[in-house]
Amino acid sequence: MIGVIRLEGNALYAFRLADGGVALVDAGPDLEGTWHDLAAQLRGHGVRTSDVRLVIATHAHADHAGLAAHWAAEGARVVCGAADLLALRAGVDGYAATRSAREDDLRRHGCPPAVIEAIARRPRTPYRWDGSPDVEAVPAGTRFELASGRALRVIEAPGHTPGNLVVALEGPQGLGLCSGDTLLPDTVPTPGLHFPVDAEGVRWPSLPSFLRSVRALGALDVTSALPGHGDLVEGADGVQRLVRRFVGHHERRASRVRSALEGGPANAFEVARTLFPRLPAERLGQALTEVIGHFDLLLERGDASLEDGPARTLVMRLR
Ligand SMILES: [Zn+2]
Repeated sequence: MIGVIRLEGNALYAFRLADGGVALVDAGPDLEGTWHDLAAQLRGHGVRTSDVRLVIATHAHADHAGLAAHWAAEGARVVCGAADLLALRAGVDGYAATRSAREDDLRRHGCPPAVIEAIARRPRTPYRWDGSPDVEAVPAGTRFELASGRALRVIEAPGHTPGNLVVALEGPQGLGLCSGDTLLPDTVPTPGLHFPVDAEGVRWPSLPSFLRSVRALGALDVTSALPGHGDLVEGADGVQRLVRRFVGHHERRASRVRSALEGGPANAFEVARTLFPRLPAERLGQALTEVIGHFDLLLERGDASLEDGPARTLVMRLR
């Protein structure tokens, strides 16, 4: 590896390709001055931005993919997971395009209009994110040979986003895993409410896939994690601890959601309120997202069913 580039809380990883160019895992956030900062840090490693031939965006979030269009304009090949492709091509406009679907979904899950407004009123993200028509999808299993004799291998790990990727640095002592936001050292990564640009308002259930992906990564011979935020995690034990923390968090959350439903059918907002009675309205978005994720899990396992409730809401009934 050439080095780690740190930009406003994000970590990007640079590798020398066998053909002489440079590969970056993640494009970086587009904030005031980050492009210049990124170029300066690369220069510190003897790399010009024009040397970067390949940028692998782990997922379609502004802090990881924000500079994708800049890299494409510089002539780099920018790739991402197939199910995130339209989101990267759209950039921040994709989020705006699915906003009403997101609000409708929250309403159906019992979220009162005032809380939806409070969630929308949260301080606007400072990230810019231009879409780029030049981004392309990369198939799982694609390998990029490195000058060191090692290789980067693309692994699909849907969950944090529908087309989320992680990138394995293959080596004789196991895998280094550029884990994006799938495994993070300082926090349990969050599922989201995903409305793929081409899904006509239909939500993609995030949490069931996220759990499957994390468990599958935990079964690989991963000996270090190179996360999208925070410090490197060295050693298989450290990586397994992140896997266990994620799975354990959601097992505990699943049993609390189940207990909240034992008294009778309830909508996701009512369950979120039961679980987090003191959380202010504008901070309920994430709690609600997790509860909806656990509804998705209950449905997938056939342990509950979603029914029409009062005022065009949906309530979950345990089987
Ligand atoms: Zn993310």
